[in-house]
This record gives sequence, structure tokens and C-alpha cells, in this order.
Amino acid sequence: MSNLGSNLINGQWLKHGQSFTSINPSDTTDCIGIYNAASKEDCLLAIKSARDAFDKWSNSSLEERKKILDGIGDELIDRSAEIGELIAREEGKPIAEGIGEVYRSGQFFQYFGAEVLRQMGELATSTRPNVNVEVTREPLGVIGVITPWNFPIAVAAWKIAPALAFGNCVVLKPSEIVPASAIAFADIVHRSGLPKGVFNCVQGPGSIAGETLTESKDIDAISFTGSVKTGNLIAQKAIKNMTRVQLEMGSKNALVILNDADIDTAVNCAINGAFFGTGQKCTASSRLIVEAGIHDEFVERMITATKALIVGDALEKTTQIGPVVDLRQFEQNTKYIKSAQKDGAKMVTGDETLKVNNDGFYMRPTLFTETNNQMEINREEVFGPIACVIKVNNYEEALTISNDSDFGLSSGIITQSLKRATHFKRHSASGCVMVNLPTAGTDYHVPFGGRKASSYGPREQGTYAKEFYTIVKTTYVSS
Ligand code: NAD
Repeated sequence: MSNLGSNLINGQWLKHGQSFTSINPSDTTDCIGIYNAASKEDCLLAIKSARDAFDKWSNSSLEERKKILDGIGDELIDRSAEIGELIAREEGKPIAEGIGEVYRSGQFFQYFGAEVLRQMGELATSTRPNVNVEVTREPLGVIGVITPWNFPIAVAAWKIAPALAFGNCVVLKPSEIVPASAIAFADIVHRSGLPKGVFNCVQGPGSIAGETLTESKDIDAISFTGSVKTGNLIAQKAIKNMTRVQLEMGSKNALVILNDADIDTAVNCAINGAFFGTGQKCTASSRLIVEAGIHDEFVERMITATKALIVGDALEKTTQIGPVVDLRQFEQNTKYIKSAQKDGAKMVTGDETLKVNNDGFYMRPTLFTETNNQMEINREEVFGPIACVIKVNNYEEALTISNDSDFGLSSGIITQSLKRATHFKRHSASGCVMVNLPTAGTDYHVPFGGRKASSYGPREQGTYAKEFYTIVKTTYVSS
């Protein structure tokens, strides 16, 4: 794949541009490769190519589109072991999670391959005699897709599969932290039989490729996943051109554990939600809100389970927790740990010196107790293997604290009470609610998204994706 180039524009791989490297976070002596950033001119060319290809692709037959999407999905699934290993090496998630991500990405394409055929409109009788009304959906145009590093292929897949399925053209701007994974994905999409220019990929820093997409009047919509800070910037720029935007951003997800919880379920869900993926998931359980009656047993069990987690090289099969993605994220995590300690939180795991054979950004999963919901660490997204226990007196207090956040992506409750679970489902102010399950982990055929600062715009995935990737037309026909 190394001879492909970094940027795919109008069906051609380009090899010029300012170079940047990708480093393995499990072993910083391992340089994955040197890549080229797209210039502003390259990005403008990619947008123009997508615009020029739109007429042909938006009028392509449903069967052609379905065949292409199925083909992309099949290749991703067939090569999930190989590309999953590349993700593990480049992003640092354990290899099984990398393989799972690529497999899931294939499922997104297969799902939307089938969705191509669901071209259902609506018919209405007009208020006027002998007139009928048709409500149909049409492709939107050119979609700018801007993605983060934590799911290098899955986030791109869940945006690009519906974009193509509904007849749009795409310019992808992946995170500059994962260029090799982006090339592996772009290569599969490129070879799928799409007409040239329908799919383009421009790499490099957000300040060039990202901003060029965001500021372009020739982009009809931007679908972004990343931090709140970048999302806000994108929204402000896009609105100047009346560009449609969809933003999926950070969170501060709460997992509520009630006195009647099954303790094994509570500990398994908390460990999975807080620490798997090195806590670098937008749905990670960073706040563990625990009722007083189960608090001490839960904390004791969590300490044991957290200390037993195997932290190591993402490519080792035994590793459960990989490194954090880079030095910047490592330093940010350390800053939040210091801030929590300064605010009086008690660190019960995480203070051991972590020795791993390789030179990487390793961090022992860190659990704090004696925290409250006003501490900085419980208000801001950390995006690392760090979780805080907040002790509460009853369910009502747990619900109030769970909802007391600027964010609202995912929340969970561990309880055996149907009454409490039902109340929580209805009153939790988040886009996804989990009952006796980790806050992380979602299906690919149903909507995904959050509330408050976590999301802006229509939901992603499942049948709801059409709200963003199509535009509605109302036609009146006199007979
Ligand atoms: P980030 O905001 O730093 O970067 C995301 C993307 O935006 C990258 O491709 C980056 O190059 C680009 N970008 C940066 N500055 C830009 C600018 N000025 N204009 C246009 N594009 C720009 O986020 P990240 O560190 O890559 O990802 C981590 C964040 O992503 C976390 O906050 C996490 O919660 C969030 N996330 C959310 C979801 C979700 O579905 N809600 C899923 C995964 C990750």
C-alpha cells in the first residue's frame, strides 16, 4: 500500500505535499510511514472533482450503488484481520478491537448497501381538488467528512456509506494521527468501481484540509466527529455559507450503580466502559455514580479488577489496554490526574510506575474515589483511562448528578429494579441509554447521537441517516 500516495483526488493518488509521520504509540521507535499533507489547492481540486462527479453518481442506478457498497463492505470484512492489525499499530487499540472495528465498518457498508433499495417516498392528497402531493428525497450534493483518530475507519464508514448510498459525492478528511489507516480504507473505496471523483481523501492537519472543506461554498454538508472545540469552530464557519452541519463530539458519560445491582455486572460494565479502548471513546463511562449501600464493595472489586488489567503493546494478543494515542493526549491525561488530586480526589489505582518493554505512551488505568460532580475532572472530557467514583445517597440523587453535565451522549444504569430502569430510560438526558450494559458499544442499524454539547444536527446511522444525507422535495401534480 506504501506506493499509493496519501491523497486521493479525482481517482488519482497524489504523492506531493508537506510530509508528516505516523508513529506507533505502543513503540515510538516504530515509524509507520511518512505521508503528504494536502495543500489548500489539492483540497479545492478534490471538492471540484466531487462536484463534477455528482451528476453521474446521483443518477446512477440503485443496483450499481448497491453492488459497490456491498463490495466495499465485503472487502473490509474479508481483510479485517490485516487492517485491524494496522489500526492497532497506528492508533494503539488492542488488536482484537482493531479487527472488530474493521469488521463493523464492513457491516456499515453492507447495511447501507441494502438501504439503497429502500427508496420510499410519501403520497398525500392535496387540499385542492384533483391534485396529488409527492414527498421524495434527493441526494444533497458534495459532503465533507471530517473524522477523529479514535475510530480511524469506523467513523468514516458510518458517514461515507450513507453518503454514497443516497447518491452523494464525498471528500474525506481523516485525522492526521492515523494516515495509514485512512489510506487502507480509501484504497478499498477507490477500487470499488465508483466513478472517479465520487470519493476523494485529503490528509493533513485540520488547519489546512479541515478548514478548506469547512469554508468552501462548494460543499453542501459537513459531517464531523471530534472534539467540542473543533466542532464549534466548524459550525461557525459552515453557517456563513449556510452549509448543512452534523457534529458528533465529546461527552462525560455517567454509569449509575444502584444498591440492588448485580455486583459482577456492575464491575464488568464499569471496567469495560471506563477503560477499554484506553478510555478513548466518546461513550466511555468516566463518571461512576454509586449508591452508598454498594459503594464500598464496588470500589474494592473495581480496584482488584483494574489492577488485573493487562496494559501493553496493542499488537500483543494478551493486551487488554493499549497505550494512549500520543504524547499530547498522555500529557493531557496527566494534567487531569493532577487537577483531580488537587481538588481532593483519592487515587486508588494508577499510581504505580508502569514498566512495559517498549517505549510507548502507557498509562495504568486510573480510578479516583471521593470525588464530586463539581470537580474539573468530572466536568470536562478527559479522553483517557481515567474514571471517577461519585458516591450518592439514593437513586434520585444519582439521576440528578448523571444529568448535571454539559454533555449528553450515553448513560447507563445497573439495577435489578424494572421501576428504576424504566424511570432512568425516560429521564436520562442523553442520546443513548444502556440498562445493565456498558455505556460504550452500540449497534450499526439504529440511530446514534447525543444531546447538549455532545451532538448537533440529525442523528447518524440506521434509517435516520437519510435525514442528513438527503434533501426533501415536495411535488404537486394536477391530474
Ligand atoms: P479533533 O477535534 O482534534 O479532530 C477531529 C478532526 O477535526 C481531525 O480530522 C482534525 O484534523 C480536524 N480538525 C482539527 N481542527 C480543525 C479545523 N479548524 N477545521 C476543520 N477540521 C479540523 O478530535 P480528535 O482528538 O481527533 O478526536 C477526539 C474527540 O472526538 C473526542 O472529543 C471524542 O469524544 C470525539 N469523538 C466523538 C464521537 C461521537 O460519535 N460523538 C466518536 C468518536 C470521537
